[in-house]
Amino acid sequence: KPVSAYSATEASEKAKELRQTLSKYSAAYYTKDAPLVEDSTYDALYRDLQDLEGAFPDIITPDSPTQKVGGDVLPGFTKVTHSIPMLSMGDVFSFDELREWDTRLRGNTDAEVAYSTELKIDGLAIDLVYEKGQFVLGSTRGDGNIGEDITKNLLTVAGIPKTLKEPLNIEVRGECYMPKAAFEALNQKRELAGQPVFANPRNAAAGSLRQLDTQVTKSRQLAVFMYFITKPDTLTVTTQTQALATLADLGFAVNPNSRLCATVDDVIAYIEEKTPLRDNLAYGIDGVVLKVNDLALQQQLGNTVKVPRWEIAYKFPPEEAHTVVRDIEWTV
Ligand code: NAD
Repeated sequence: KPVSAYSATEASEKAKELRQTLSKYSAAYYTKDAPLVEDSTYDALYRDLQDLEGAFPDIITPDSPTQKVGGDVLPGFTKVTHSIPMLSMGDVFSFDELREWDTRLRGNTDAEVAYSTELKIDGLAIDLVYEKGQFVLGSTRGDGNIGEDITKNLLTVAGIPKTLKEPLNIEVRGECYMPKAAFEALNQKRELAGQPVFANPRNAAAGSLRQLDTQVTKSRQLAVFMYFITKPDTLTVTTQTQALATLADLGFAVNPNSRLCATVDDVIAYIEEKTPLRDNLAYGIDGVVLKVNDLALQQQLGNTVKVPRWEIAYKFPPEEAHTVVRDIEWTV
C-alpha cells in the first residue's frame, strides 16, 4: 500500500520489521560476505524503509540501516580509525530520479555544476595511507568510522604501489575488486573442493581481503581502481578530474572510463554508452557514479549522516530478471 495510507503506529511497526530484516541481511553481506538475498531485493526493502522514515521522521532510530554505513569489524583484525569517515552513497534507479537529483543539487548552489562521471566498480572500498611515499597502512571501510587493518593483504594486490613516484604524505581511497575471470576460476576450484562458492565477485573480493592468512589473499588475484584523495589541497588538486589524473601519475591503477559531463543529459548519454559494455569488461560494475567535479563545491554541499550530497550512484537494473515485490509503492 502507499506510504500515505499508513497510520503512525502501522508505520512504526512496519519500519521495525524492515529494520530487523535489513539488519539480518546486512550482517550476512558485510560481516560474513555471504548474502542471503539478491541486492535488488535488499535495495527494494531499503527503499520501503526510507520512504516510511521520510513520511514519519519520528520513527527513525539511530541503529536504522538508513542511518549506518556498512558492517562490523571482524575479530582478529586491528581496528583503524579513519581520518575522515568512509561514507556510503545515495542511489537512484531511473533517469527520472537522476534528473530530479540533478535539479535539486543545482537548486542548492549558484555555482556552475559539472560531474566527473565514473563507472561504479563492484568491489569494496579501501583506504591507503602513505608516509614519505611509502605505503604504511591499508584498511577497509568497516562501519565508516572504524575499519579493519588489512595492510599485509593489500601488499599482495595489483595496482597498489608500495612506493610512490614522489615522497608524499597522502591518503587515498578506491575500490578493490576481483576480476571476473579470477572469480569464476575461484568458484570452480571451490566447487570441486566441496567448499561453498561466493555469491558474486564483490563478496569474493571482500572475503579474500579480510583473510588472516595473507597467502590466501595473494592467491585470489585482486586488483584496484583508486578514485579519491582525502586531503587533496596538499597536492593543489581542485577537481575530481585532477584527482584521478594525479592518482594515475603517482602510480595507482585508475579506471580509464571516467568523463567530465557538463549536463545531466551528457551523464545519461554516458550511461547509455557504457551500459552495453558491461558484459565485456574484465571486472563487474553495478552502475555509474556522478560526482560534483569542483572539490570546493563538494565541501560546501557536505554530507548527510550516511552519504555525501555531492555524489550519487545510478544503479543498473539487476542482471537477471528478478521480480521484486514491494509492500510499499515507490513515492519518488
Ligand atoms: P554502495 O556499494 O552502493 O555504494 C558506495 C560504494 O561504492 C563506495 O563505498 C565505494 O566502495 C563504491 N564505489 C565503486 N565505484 C566507485 C567510484 N567510482 N567512486 C566512488 N565510489 C565507488 O553502498 P554500500 O553502502 O557499500 O552498500 C549498499 C549496497 O550493498 C547496495 O547495493 C545493497 O544492495 C548492497 N547490500 C546487499 C545486501 C544483500 O543482502 N544482498 C545487504 C546489504 C547491502
